[in-house]
Amino acid sequence: MTKKVLVLPGDGIGPEIVAEAVKVIEALNREGLGVELEQGLVGGAAYDAAGSPLPERTLEQARAADAILLGAVGGPKWEPLERALRPEKGLLGLRAGLELFSNLRPAVLYPQLADASTLRPEVVAGLDIMIVRELTGGIYFGEPRGIRTLENGERQGYNTLVYRESEIERIGRSAFEIARKRGRKLCSVDKANVLEVTELWREVMIRLGKDYPDVELSHMYVDNAAMQLVKWPKQFDVMVTDNMFGDILSDAAAMLTGSIGMLPSASLDAHGKGMYEPIHGSAPDIAGQGVANPLATILSVAMMLRYSLDAGAAAERIEAAVGRVLDQGLRTPDIMAAGMQQVGTAAMGDAVVAAL
Ligand code: NAD
Repeated sequence: MTKKVLVLPGDGIGPEIVAEAVKVIEALNREGLGVELEQGLVGGAAYDAAGSPLPERTLEQARAADAILLGAVGGPKWEPLERALRPEKGLLGLRAGLELFSNLRPAVLYPQLADASTLRPEVVAGLDIMIVRELTGGIYFGEPRGIRTLENGERQGYNTLVYRESEIERIGRSAFEIARKRGRKLCSVDKANVLEVTELWREVMIRLGKDYPDVELSHMYVDNAAMQLVKWPKQFDVMVTDNMFGDILSDAAAMLTGSIGMLPSASLDAHGKGMYEPIHGSAPDIAGQGVANPLATILSVAMMLRYSLDAGAAAERIEAAVGRVLDQGLRTPDIMAAGMQQVGTAAMGDAVVAAL
């Protein structure tokens, strides 16, 4: 069956890295994968062409697609714009408009790149963690919020951390399902000793755990989780946590691997539809130079095949091809090391296609 993928290159290095990911999809299509690609506009590129970072047409295309592949958005050119017109609004609008509440952030360190981490190779080599972050609720969206002036004239900032049981339950189910496809270990991260919201979070996770007796559920306070991530990260398989804790822990976990040019991500809705993108931004400092690392975007395609397009075998082929290219010693400048062969964006994409 043909699956539809909306391709949104975006800004900066976005078009360069997405072009390499498209090459990989087209190579698999020649062998019968059956993915139909459609291009769309988002971010600064969409603002320039249509006056909005998320034109209605893009949202319609996204709704009609089975999955979305995004490059990156943003850049200095659009920073002077008012907040509602900035490129990042395009991303937030897609997440909200499609109800992409489950953010999957893998932190995988290919053994060939173990020296790139600031941690000792034996601590991180072969690392493979999946952080599942709740993306559309919690303190980033809770009301009331604002800055008010108190009776004594002093100003006070305030935000609200709220989660409904149904919101906790759907992110919990998403995480348990993912744990089932991996090592069957799920660590739920909360601050249940201080925050009532996360006391409820823990209660719901324990209740859900009864439906997943094959997954080993554990709980950890967020402060300890931060320590354990840098002390012995390989103890984790899947971690699930709220929006703010997940924001922080997933960036910390990403840095364990030493290179943001290697890490994909996914944001899923309740039906497995998702938006897939590298975790890095639009890298305006290197845009247009043909030196950006396309592997995070190519690995995002692998995640897309696994989680939205029901093509796990093709996903494994892409991941294996990336491993082989690293074995061959090919490196873009961001992951370059002594004795390796430096290549540009397009040559790296071609090498992955050849290794498929
Ligand atoms: P960034 O991730 O774009 O870049 C940080 C550093 O990493 C830069 O030195 C960059 O050259 C390097 N880098 C990033 N991706 C790389 C790749 N694939 N290969 C090689 N090197 C790479 O973060 P930033 O500089 O803080 O932000 C730049 C712009 O991107 C801003 O406008 C920001 O708002 C936007 N941004 C977008 C997203 C997104 O689209 N999801 C995420 C983060 C930042």
